[in-house]
Amino acid sequence: RMAIRKIRTMGDRILNKVCRPVEEMTPKIQELVEDMLETMYDAYGVGLAAPQVGMLKRIVVIDIGDENGPYVLINPVIIETAGEQRGYEGCLSVPGMAGQVTRPNYVKVKAMDEDMNEVIYEGTELLARAFCHEIDHLDGKMYTDLVEGELHRTSYDEEE
Ligand code: ZN
Repeated sequence: RMAIRKIRTMGDRILNKVCRPVEEMTPKIQELVEDMLETMYDAYGVGLAAPQVGMLKRIVVIDIGDENGPYVLINPVIIETAGEQRGYEGCLSVPGMAGQVTRPNYVKVKAMDEDMNEVIYEGTELLARAFCHEIDHLDGKMYTDLVEGELHRTSYDEEE
């Protein structure tokens, strides 16, 4: 039984806290992972980190629509980066906004999967960007601190 959890938005101080590692997979953690996937899909996001649903645990889910996703990363660590990409980034915790951020164009990540087996993932372009963005959340970092220039509004609904 999956459930959609409330997404915390910027200004909620939980988003600036450092998350704790997951020591073992438990039914509660399994349920959290499933809820995170459900919550991400419901919000049309490509990634979600546990603090965004109020849980200070080092868990990330990503689905950029490629054949290998969704990615479930427990205790992820970036172990290699290369190159550079500049592009627009948004965040489910900063609804309706986007800004330009420079990230590595290639990222290699070490993590545990849902069975707590070690996995290595490599990503370029959007996947590399998603790895960086989501793993930053686990250390309380928001992309808005990295934006070059101004944050832009992506929807004008409230003004119409
Ligand atoms: Zn985010």
